[in-house]
Amino acid sequence: MSRNLRTSKEGITFAPQKQYLNKMKYYSTNKQTPVVDLQTAVVKGLAADKGLFMPENICPLPASFFDNIENLSFHEIACEVASAFFGEDIEKEILVSIVKETLNFDTPVVPVSNSIYALELFHGPTLAFKDVGARFMARLLGYFIRKQGLTDVNVLVATSGDTGSAVANGFLGVEGIHVYVLYPKGKVSAIQECQFTTLGQNITALEIDGTFDDCQALVKSAFMDGELNGRMKLTSANSINVARFLPQSFYYFHAYAQLKRIEKKSQLVFCVPSGNFGNLTAGLIAQQMGLPVKRFIAANNKNDIFLQYLLTGFYKPQPSIQTLANAMDVGDPSNFVRILDLYHHNHEIITQIISGFSCDDEAIRNTVKSCYESTGYILDPHGACGYLALLEKLQPNETGVFLETAHPAKFKDTIDAILQQSIEIPAKLQTFMRGTKQSLELGKDFDGFKWFLLGEI
Ligand SMILES: *Cc1c(COP(=O)(O)O)cnc(C)c1O
Repeated sequence: MSRNLRTSKEGITFAPQKQYLNKMKYYSTNKQTPVVDLQTAVVKGLAADKGLFMPENICPLPASFFDNIENLSFHEIACEVASAFFGEDIEKEILVSIVKETLNFDTPVVPVSNSIYALELFHGPTLAFKDVGARFMARLLGYFIRKQGLTDVNVLVATSGDTGSAVANGFLGVEGIHVYVLYPKGKVSAIQECQFTTLGQNITALEIDGTFDDCQALVKSAFMDGELNGRMKLTSANSINVARFLPQSFYYFHAYAQLKRIEKKSQLVFCVPSGNFGNLTAGLIAQQMGLPVKRFIAANNKNDIFLQYLLTGFYKPQPSIQTLANAMDVGDPSNFVRILDLYHHNHEIITQIISGFSCDDEAIRNTVKSCYESTGYILDPHGACGYLALLEKLQPNETGVFLETAHPAKFKDTIDAILQQSIEIPAKLQTFMRGTKQSLELGKDFDGFKWFLLGEI
């Protein structure tokens, strides 16, 4: 077989050499800077004008792909979607191996009650959907580093709990990259803490004597410090990064394939428990690539800025409110600008495609309890918002799928108190809990942090 003409199993031909000539470009949602290539978008994370990067083309997938999707494995589906985004920038064999290594776990669709299904995204190493994006980004960054012969790239990430574990585990053992996880001392749960402090290898946990905002401020100052950037290669693994955000579309296609197998694919409604709206935006992009989705529901906790936007047409960021579904406690969702951009700021179209929903902590508690009592299914507080939104908003003839974004055991104290029992902790989580905590305590002053980082090189 010639080097630049390959035939995949489905009989589609690829000519990678030629495709390299016109790589996918990424533009900024603020449109004040020139377009960049994938590598720049991934390494920089945020555009120079502070906008978010978007792919210039969202390529519709061929009808033959959807006709045959129920016969494809998750890997095959994800490879097809990945090549629509990244196929012009990465050799096919490498992209296939990145996808395979990323998705070393399943995302099953599980029936919960009449016409309502859970898309379980918690079967990865840290039991939350962020594993998909973090694992993909780690491998993509690793590839760029190898290609350029770079070493010693340092990823800084501030976390209030879940992001740190997904990023640390995603980057664990990736050569050429060292990860520093900054977290507020005493303010993350024991289960969350053990997921990024017990790893060792190329992961360093920094326990900051301050709040999450202090951690985030340290990371921001580090990126702006000329001396530090002159001496160390620093990058961020923030969730707005295209390499974390786009791969989240893989499991929407996989969910569709599973529903097609059981003849439940028509009138499909995806309901997405949302905080920064990255997960929902990935679903909207899947729809634009041809995935037959009837509509979306954005489920929120009391932080209902998006719902208010749908109702009024005005977007008013608010200080975040603390709730039981704490990964969704976001008062100014970063991916909102991507949604506006996708639909050219057209409020009417946005309201046709997405409906909103908001519920308070009491509703979350009642939903976890009543769902368990009537179906036996244990929801986590985030999935509970999604399930409740479907119970209230699903129309007859529609099939509803809510994204179960984390395993309930990650919120064991909350769920145990609601269900009045001790829920089981999956073996994967127990392994973390048996590890030895290794962390370094630092103050919240930037000089101390900078001195520490410079001492590392
Ligand atoms: C991050 C997170 C969310 C919110 O996802 P976004 O993409 O930010 O909207 C929901 N649930 C869980 C468990 C999370 O960790």
